[in-house]
Amino acid sequence: MPDKYAVIGNPVAHSKSPLIHAEFARQTGEDVSYAAILAAHGDFETAVERFRSEGGRGMNVTLPFKHRAHALAQKRSRRAEQALAVNTLAFESDAVHGDNTDGVGLVRDLTVNLGRALRGTRILLMGAGGASYGVCGPLLDESPAELIVANRTKAKALTLCEHFRRLHPAAPVLSGCSYEDLAGKRFDLVVNATSAGLTGEMPALPPGVFAAGALGYDMLYGGSTPFLEFAGGEGGETADGLGMLVEQAAESFRIWRGVRPETGPVIAMLRL
Ligand code: NDP
Repeated sequence: MPDKYAVIGNPVAHSKSPLIHAEFARQTGEDVSYAAILAAHGDFETAVERFRSEGGRGMNVTLPFKHRAHALAQKRSRRAEQALAVNTLAFESDAVHGDNTDGVGLVRDLTVNLGRALRGTRILLMGAGGASYGVCGPLLDESPAELIVANRTKAKALTLCEHFRRLHPAAPVLSGCSYEDLAGKRFDLVVNATSAGLTGEMPALPPGVFAAGALGYDMLYGGSTPFLEFAGGEGGETADGLGMLVEQAAESFRIWRGVRPETGPVIAMLRL
């Protein structure tokens, strides 16, 4: 019998995780199965426990349950503690372990797949929701010269920065602001971690924030977005979040199985 894993969320039918993990299993020869589980909003904890009691070895957790997965985990990684959210649960004999692989997924996509060194760069992170909490710590770990978090609701950007200042030794380079505060500033990397693209919108980013050779990275994936069109129009290079999706999955797979799959072929397959 294969070892059982699953992604749990609501909605979850759109998730590419079963396909990605099936490819990882085929590639590495690991004997695993991977399902998608839809949990009712009131039923998340029960659904996790049911899967675990039926022999499940681990789960990926997606919207809207990442905060509840953080509360459910009995042991948490530093990444999960910083993010206040868990996207990877590992069911060990002693405890439920929680981790967050979103940030390392973004950093690996940027540094390995896209060849962008982050040390000493000026980074703009747009959004102060769950995705930004997930990636802020790992971005700070890369020692940027500056990391500015801009958000429509400025107070949330300031709260995020206070949280990371308490937890992270590199946080002095971190500050929060609104979009209008960005006028006149330049960045080497602009990451869109807002959900604005889901409704065909983009945050009120002022023109001129892309430095020469800058990259505009949208965590959304699956085609062009208003942000990527804006970034391209400003002369920036562009990338969507498909590589991040596959990289965060690869890190979950490594946590569970102790082997890191090759991500390049899986990213290429998903782009076909
Ligand atoms: P949240 O709901 O937690 O946060 C949403 C953020 O978007 C908030 O900062 C919100 O600002 C901002 N926002 C929403 N609409 C607008 C708008 N019209 N203009 C300006 N700002 C806006 O979402 P998440 O952080 O969990 O997810 C953000 C995105 O990241 C999603 O699209 C998700 O799919 C993607 N993602 C991709 C991953 C990948 O692997 N590629 C992994 C994780 C997330 P405000 O606070 O003012 O409301």
